[in-house]
Amino acid sequence: MQMFVGGRAAESLSGKRTQIVNPATGNVIDTIPAGTADDVLAAVDAAEADQPKWANISPADKSRILINAAAQIRAEADSLATLLTTEQGKPLREAKDEILGTAHVFEYYASMTGSIRGNAASLPKYGYMNVVRKPIGICGAIVPWNMPAMIFGWKAGAALACGNAVVAKPSDTAPLTILRLAEILVHAGVSGGAMNVVTGSGSVVGDAVVRNADIRHVSFTGSVATGRSVALAAAPALKRLTLELGGNDAFIVAADADIDAAVTGAVRNRFYNCGQVCTSAKRILVDAKVSDEFVRKAKAAIEKLSVGNGLEKVNMGPLNNSDQRDTVASAVDRIVDEGAGTIVCGGKKLEGKGNFYAPTLIADAAPDAVREEIFGPVMPVIVFETLESAIEIANSTPYGLGASIWTKDITTAYTAAEEIRSGVVWVNKHLVLPPEIPFGGTKDSGYGRENGTDFIYEFTEPKSILISI
Ligand code: NDP
Repeated sequence: MQMFVGGRAAESLSGKRTQIVNPATGNVIDTIPAGTADDVLAAVDAAEADQPKWANISPADKSRILINAAAQIRAEADSLATLLTTEQGKPLREAKDEILGTAHVFEYYASMTGSIRGNAASLPKYGYMNVVRKPIGICGAIVPWNMPAMIFGWKAGAALACGNAVVAKPSDTAPLTILRLAEILVHAGVSGGAMNVVTGSGSVVGDAVVRNADIRHVSFTGSVATGRSVALAAAPALKRLTLELGGNDAFIVAADADIDAAVTGAVRNRFYNCGQVCTSAKRILVDAKVSDEFVRKAKAAIEKLSVGNGLEKVNMGPLNNSDQRDTVASAVDRIVDEGAGTIVCGGKKLEGKGNFYAPTLIADAAPDAVREEIFGPVMPVIVFETLESAIEIANSTPYGLGASIWTKDITTAYTAAEEIRSGVVWVNKHLVLPPEIPFGGTKDSGYGRENGTDFIYEFTEPKSILISI
């Protein structure tokens, strides 16, 4: 595929290309341009030229264009899902959910174009105050490989709804679906230069996006380490940032919970997308009174999961890349070496081609051994004695993205919702994130919010106008 500059397919000025590999087979499925900082400059020039055109389209027309794009995404859902599975690895069913979810994201933003508003007041002695919300101009969108379509939708949908131009940088291991989505947006009517996707490595293209002074806002999703370096690189240009840097979500099962529902929720959640979701249930905290039952039922459910090429009928695919599989394997090996948990099932790489790792259950995990996020198919179960200690463990990591409490007791639910320090708390659910919900974290999970109505504050600049009397 080619990249996408000024609304047109383009090669990199470098003339070089990078291979995209199917994580289930190791086969090369396509190549993409290895972009450079000069390609980012070309995208910024195109964005500067066309952003005013896009901003001046009426809210109703912007809405119609985004709706048409969503309709096209729905029409192509099967082929987009196949493309996504082939480059990212997830099972086709999950890929289709992600594609349809992405269409819904654009529908949501289509419904919001008329709500990009400030406020007004009559100020005696001064006059009329009007605060209007103006587009920022050009927004950078740095997208990871785990949920590429959906996360691109969050960033591009919000930026476009507010009248901004977008320069997106997909991950080098999952750029293809995003390139097709950008093409769909332009065919639906987004002014050409308002939609750019520059492919290439994070250290070259991503860094150029972050440092470019004409890109006034960057929304980044990825690791804490890269997020920190993005924040430092963006500082000289005093650029606004939205950072979503992953999490180590606690999934707390109280003794009074519906254990079958909690087991189903935990297993579905933890192994969804092979465990590679920022707000996946990464630490399962279970009350000692029900922990044996929970582990027994979780083991039975996990052993039923089929693992294989996402294009076949399987429950779980491979990890997206071999580095990721190595990182997960060494995290599990370390827990075993330290005697900080007992492997109940899994705990190893699967033989053969592809980045497969067995779905893994670890019982009696020591809270300190799983303070760092494990971004893969590993479910550590930590046993707790009191709700107070569960909340303390939940809060004991550097992260603060999401958490859930599974209980039938409203006081337990309320206490957990109040005391867990995270951007989202679910009660008897986890990982449900329609675009209507503001999403983002605290502490090392980053700052700023995507979706909900909070996107208006992230993707617009307030301008105060005083009409004096
Ligand atoms: P990174 O944070 O390095 O990558 C995320 C995105 O940032 C990619 O598009 C990447 O491009 C880009 N990028 C990399 N370096 C820079 C830079 N200097 N400036 C600007 N952009 C940059 O994540 P990894 O892919 O290396 O994954 C490592 C870990 O990150 C995972 O194990 C997981 O813990 C976490 N992660 C969290 C995600 C989340 O949803 N919060 C998503 C993915 C990973 P490229 O891919 O081309 O290098």
